[in-house]
Amino acid sequence: MNGKRLVYLDNAATSQKPNKVIDAIHDYYTQYNANIHRGVYKISERATEEYINSKQKLADMVGASSIEEIIYVRNTTEAINLVALTWGEMNVKKGDHILISQMEHHSNIIPWQMLAKRNDAVLDYIELDDNKAGLSEDSFKEQLDKDPKIVSIAHVSNVLGSINDVKKITKLAHDRGAFVLVDGAQSAPHMKVDVADLDCDFFALSAHKMLGPTGIGALYAKREVLDKMPPLFGGGDMIKSVSMQTYTPNDLPWKFEAGTSNIEGGIAFGAAIDYLDGVGLDSIRKHEKKLTEYAIKSLSEIDGVRVFGYGPKETDKRGGVVSFSIRGVHPHDVATIFDSDGVAIRAGHHCAMPLVTGVLGQGSLSRISFYLYNDIDDIDKAVRAIEKVKKIFKC
Ligand code: PMP
Repeated sequence: MNGKRLVYLDNAATSQKPNKVIDAIHDYYTQYNANIHRGVYKISERATEEYINSKQKLADMVGASSIEEIIYVRNTTEAINLVALTWGEMNVKKGDHILISQMEHHSNIIPWQMLAKRNDAVLDYIELDDNKAGLSEDSFKEQLDKDPKIVSIAHVSNVLGSINDVKKITKLAHDRGAFVLVDGAQSAPHMKVDVADLDCDFFALSAHKMLGPTGIGALYAKREVLDKMPPLFGGGDMIKSVSMQTYTPNDLPWKFEAGTSNIEGGIAFGAAIDYLDGVGLDSIRKHEKKLTEYAIKSLSEIDGVRVFGYGPKETDKRGGVVSFSIRGVHPHDVATIFDSDGVAIRAGHHCAMPLVTGVLGQGSLSRISFYLYNDIDDIDKAVRAIEKVKKIFKC
């Protein structure tokens, strides 16, 4: 980038893709391009098999009991909207409460705002703790007293990096009869997730943040929950039979996948899961923890740079996300100067305006975020770019 080695530190936005994933897309189109579920010929059978294998790999990876619990959607956003539009429509009525938190991505805010508006329900927020590092337990318990129908929480914040104890949250929410959705967009790519152990009812993720292609993601949901949910879209593939006036929905998970699927995306996602399995999610987590520790230490030592106040200090409570501000410099200027050094970072409200502008009181923040291919040298390059920013702005 700009004649320099690319230092990619915007992994919370999307990840780079291994050749294996790109090859999987190429192989599908050049060797067995056909629609799935329909053909009795070889290449259609192969495409169907690869697509289903991908779901099995994901089910194994996140601890789902079978592929019946894995719905392929476009991304985390679509997964959450699907729940709000189907389960939400059935279960959230006038005056009911929906509980989210102040650290949510817009994807886990707007679908609930829309549902609340449609059905005259109330949207409540769990507040952050005093250090702006995690969720306040007192606030959570206070909100739970309102008996929300659903609690929908990010597993890992894309701004603060905070890892929320979603297992404990789920237990407490279930004790009050609430359902639980975990937004796993920032956890599934970076750490071992076990939905059975978490016991959450729904878990949403995006393939593009975990080495896979864009346009494919997944909603995990408990089988008994999915059984009671109506399909969101009607059309081909989601039916067992159709008459003039009515239809019988297909078995799970196909009941929720109307029309031709993102076949290449599903297959390539399978290749991404193979890659992640090969490296090991525990190793990835360990590696990112080291990078995060080094980044927090390096950045916090620079005069005028603020890291604390934007997430936990302890790396066992934090994913590989470090937001920061430089006194007197707009984050967009920071990101532009970084870019001139070949360092790609994100600046802005990170699709979490209620958190960044509301709670943290910042117009925007700069953010570096890591993945398995980053190293210490990448962070040193970011530190040098900060020094360049300070020189240019004389601060
Ligand atoms: N939730 C969180 C915590 C995220 O970080 C993101 C992506 N930045 C999303 C949801 C939305 O993901 P997508 O755009 O892939 O739907």
